[in-house]
Amino acid sequence: MGREIAAKFVRLFQVPTDDIELVRAQFHAFAKQIPLLYLILAINTLAVVFTFAKFGHPWISVYLPLALCIAGLGRGVAWWRIGRSAVSDDVVIRYMQRTNKFAFISSMTFIAWGIALFPYGDAYAQGQIVFFLGLSLISGAFCLMHLRSAVFSLTLFGIAPFSIYFFFAEQGHFRSAAINLALVSLGMIVILMIYNRDFANLVSSRRSLLEKQEETQRLSEENLRLANLDALSGLPNRRALMSQLEAIHQATGKANTQTAVIFVDLDGFKDVNDTYGHETGDKVIKIVAREFQSLLPEGAVLARLGGDEFAGLISGSDAAEQADMFAARVVSSLNEPIRIRERAIQIGASVGIACAAQGACDARELFRRADAAMYDVKANGKADVRVYSAALDAARQRQQELEAQIRQGLIEGQFDVFYQPIVDADRKEIVSVEALLRWPRRLAGPIGPDQFISVAEASGLINPLGLLVLRRACRDILEAKVKLSVNVSPAQFRDPDFEAKIAAVLAETDFPAERLEFELTEGYLIDHPERAMAVISSLKGMGISIALDDFGTGYTSISYLQRYGFDRIKIDKSLAGQIATDKRAGVLVAGAVYMANGLDMAVTAEGVETEEQANMLRLAGCQCLQGFRYSEPKPIDEIRDLLTERSRDVAA
Ligand code: C2E
Ligand code: CA
Ligand code: CA
Repeated sequence: MGREIAAKFVRLFQVPTDDIELVRAQFHAFAKQIPLLYLILAINTLAVVFTFAKFGHPWISVYLPLALCIAGLGRGVAWWRIGRSAVSDDVVIRYMQRTNKFAFISSMTFIAWGIALFPYGDAYAQGQIVFFLGLSLISGAFCLMHLRSAVFSLTLFGIAPFSIYFFFAEQGHFRSAAINLALVSLGMIVILMIYNRDFANLVSSRRSLLEKQEETQRLSEENLRLANLDALSGLPNRRALMSQLEAIHQATGKANTQTAVIFVDLDGFKDVNDTYGHETGDKVIKIVAREFQSLLPEGAVLARLGGDEFAGLISGSDAAEQADMFAARVVSSLNEPIRIRERAIQIGASVGIACAAQGACDARELFRRADAAMYDVKANGKADVRVYSAALDAARQRQQELEAQIRQGLIEGQFDVFYQPIVDADRKEIVSVEALLRWPRRLAGPIGPDQFISVAEASGLINPLGLLVLRRACRDILEAKVKLSVNVSPAQFRDPDFEAKIAAVLAETDFPAERLEFELTEGYLIDHPERAMAVISSLKGMGISIALDDFGTGYTSISYLQRYGFDRIKIDKSLAGQIATDKRAGVLVAGAVYMANGLDMAVTAEGVETEEQANMLRLAGCQCLQGFRYSEPKPIDEIRDLLTERSRDVAA
């Protein structure tokens, strides 16, 4: 207990250094006041010297005080200098601790000197000593106010001995002055303690304010960074790219500077997500982002716009060539599958490029053009590069017009369904009809399905259009007692309710599923094997049979396609039509038929126009034939006539 109090007491005379920032602040406030203190002391001392010189004893009345003055002024200058320079924390602490000790030594020295000098003077001179010491001690305490421990030393080793000595000196003549100084000092210590505490609070509140400011600054910088960054790939995002593009557009650069925007959209990425899950999809995006970034020329920027879209930005005198090179590398970099663990994931890239002289075309427009060029690649088989030209806009506009016309055509009932008979190769009897869409009442003039089906597919209008054909055909053919083939566009598989809608039409028309066959082209099967497999198996589950249409135009082998469980392949008219003239076509057809039959698939040859073709196809093993040799596609009334005619022929 006693020891604790003693330790506390000792601590009162030490400089607390745990809060270095506070010590620093004290040091700087202090450094401004110390020179002033020395100046006051020097003036006071000189005043005493002036008074006491005439009483003799020059060592104590002149030489010693003058030496003290010079030393003090020297210290004052040193403090004045140090207060203006940048100092390390160590120096600050050293100075404060030294000052602490010095306050003790100098207050003792001054008191000792004053008391030693006191007896040599007359009553007036003695009064001046008391005045001098009192004034010096009080001004000392005020100047040291930032260093509490020094104020304590000054009080204990300066003011206390002073008060005690002068209380008793000269038969109590100076008693009132001694009491006065002691009381004033007490009051002063209280004020200084309060001041000291307030100062510490001020420093700490300024510090927390600064910390808060720094935190706010850091947060707002982080926000800005995040707002311009794509979290998944770590690349700049659309906003960052746009602002960069805007900045380039506004900068007045060299005359021949060009800006190129390269728009990259991955092909088949949605299927990666659907098939392997989003985690794998995310990995693919990261890998692809890194790969594309490495292909970029120096100084160019790559951003992820979202989903599976990226965009590069290149500027410079050879931006156009650089963009071409980058785009070609992007497409070829995806030729090899991406390997994630044991999986080999195959995706592609459709790339559009737009280029303009700096300042010629604003950021938004350049972006739109690159997008339009990319869209054209997507619409024409994907995995390629297209450079924007005004013709692309015209083509896109035509497509948009056509889309609007199809929409209107659906509402106004401008579409019809025609039927083309399919005959048995041996007996030449109609066994089936293929439903084919017609648009006879189009306001701008009729066009064939070859010209508008792709637009309907791209816009999703193929869904109502496909259902219109199916519903109409089921009604028309129900009584005809032949099978019905309906073309189904792969794009219809994207509709998650596709199977349900088919089932609803069958129920509504009473058409037996066993008499219905869907014709599919192979493109979608290769691009989206999982979804295709699922749809095909549920259609087959309903009793519908499935034919592979246009065989011979793609690249895939029959054995690969066999796993989808096709019931039939339809040899494309381009192959069947050449059978009589091109020996290689004959070999191909014969091989395909042989293999298909071996895998339990029936074969129909389409595009049969001559008897010679029909014979060769029949001999090659085709079970069914279809083509102008038998009938063109015809409206339902004519087909009905044809069917009754044929059955009369067969009966006759
Ligand atoms: P596809 O499925 O290959 O249909 C056969 C096409 O060959 C039909 O053209 C038909 O008129 C034509 N054709 C038939 N016999 C001969 C012949 O002996 N010689 C020649 N040169 N051509 C013959 P169309 O009706 O113009 O249809 C073209 C394509 O449009 C169809 O090819 C099919 O892919 C698509 N399509 C037609 N209707 C529909 C439909 O309702 N839905 C879907 N998704 N696609 C359809
Ligand atoms: Ca067909
Ligand atoms: Ca075909």
